[in-house]
Parts: sequence; structure tokens; C-alpha cells
Amino acid sequence: MVKSDRISPRSQEKQIYFAAVGDVHGDIYTMLGLLHSWEQKQQKALSFVLQVGDFEPHRHADDLLTMDAPTKYKQLGDFPDFYSGKADFPYPLYFIGGNHEPYGFLDNFPHGREIAPNFNYLGRVNSIEVAGLKIVGVSGIYKPDLFAGKSRPTLEEINDRPNKDYIGFIESEIERALNYNCADILLLHDWVSDIISPEALALFQQRYSNARYEQIGNEYARLLVETLQPQLVLCGHMHFKYRYSLPLSLEITSNICCLANVKQGKNAIAVFCLTPQKQIIEIPN
Ligand SMILES: [Zn+2]
Repeated sequence: MVKSDRISPRSQEKQIYFAAVGDVHGDIYTMLGLLHSWEQKQQKALSFVLQVGDFEPHRHADDLLTMDAPTKYKQLGDFPDFYSGKADFPYPLYFIGGNHEPYGFLDNFPHGREIAPNFNYLGRVNSIEVAGLKIVGVSGIYKPDLFAGKSRPTLEEINDRPNKDYIGFIESEIERALNYNCADILLLHDWVSDIISPEALALFQQRYSNARYEQIGNEYARLLVETLQPQLVLCGHMHFKYRYSLPLSLEITSNICCLANVKQGKNAIAVFCLTPQKQIIEIPN
């Protein structure tokens, strides 16, 4: 009998590649360049992109007025090209909000929405499914003065309140995220507390000399990781590449992937392979 050379069903199942991107700060073309060069170098196609906030999707100058940032950083960026249809973004992108965002625009969609073709904002807190993965995202950073028992200021008040009143997540949003019970991927803007190694801290302090261990990351991010037990946690905010494996039990470890910003080049992106067994494996780039 002739031996069959047909491919077994398992090897026919395709692996999926997806990318995670750190803070974009409006530089969408720079992000696209990084993603395209990865694809070209690896001869593989990316299926989707996850982004960890400080995306800065400003439609026009009025949106800039609702972002918390020093005046010199209030630049329109590339989003108007994609919003108007002048340029196409070739991958479905899913992003959360950071601390520098036009919340006067984004807070129209607290439960998330596609804000331009392929640009999907998750909202303040959300759980979505992409490629069979449960992805939980929480927008904003931890600000003690905006957190415990606080409600979110409304959009109607945005011209009368400081923009920084909109950049924090609030206690009820963390409770909502905890109630999702589990996740495959957790999207956060700021880091998880208690993860930076002495070596990485020393490197980090070369850039920010007054940075202290206890100021890096926040305990609510850590609580989310410990409760939802995601395979993968993605964060940005610090503009610093770092990886950490957080053991949660004998069987479960969360891989925490902290990304640089897109101006810093390829340290801003990480690419992962999703196996047919739903394992998420980082591909060195
Ligand atoms: Zn940030």
C-alpha cells in the first residue's frame, strides 16, 4: 500500500500571529512601519494588533483640548488621515485608553466602539473575544485621588474640569473587570506592581533618576492579574521594554510584557504566535 503523504489535520491548523504595541502617541505611521518590517523580515502575516493606550486618536484640534498633557505634547498626530479615509490601517487594532488621550472623544464610547475603520476602542472596561481569545482591557491609570468610591466625571463637565480628572480608572471599573473572572490576555496601560528587577530598575533610573521601586506599577493591576490569571499581560506607559513571568500557582504563570513607545523602535512591539492549543508564545524580534 502506498504510504499517504497527506498532511495530518493538526499540522493543517494554521498558527496565528498577532502583535502588541506600546504607546503610540499619535505616531500611527511609525507603528505601521514597525509592523510591516516585522512581517517582511519574518515572511509572516499579522492577524491583528493589540495596543496598550496613549494611542492619541485626535480627530482635530478640539480633541487635543480634552487630553491631559503639557502644551508642547499636544500634537494632532496621524489619526486624522485614518479617520478621514485618506489612509488605510491594514489590521484590526484593539486598544485601551492611557493617561494621554482625547477623553472628550473617547468617553462618548465608555463601552467601546470602532472609531475609524479597523481602530477598535475597548472603552473604559471591556471583555472582547478575538481569535478565540478572551481579552480584558481597562483604560486609564491608578490615581489615588480619583479612585476609591469615585464616579467618573461626565462628558458634559469636561470643559469645566481639569483633563486629569478623566485619566484614572475608578474603583467600580476595577470591580467590573474582576467580575470577568478569567482572561487569556489582559490589556493595561500602567505596569503591575512589584515586578521590576534590580537590574531593570537600575537601567530605568538612568533615564528617570528619581524613580523608586514602589512607584513602578500599581496594586490594582496586580490584583487583576492575580484574579483573572491571564496567560499574557500587556502594558506600556513607562516607555521601557521589560518582561516578567509572574507565577500565580504551580500550574499558572502570567507573562507580563511591558513595551517601549513607538519612537523607540522595535522595542515597542512584541509579536506572539497563537498555537492551535491556544498557547500564546512570544516570537523574539
Ligand atoms: Zn501613559
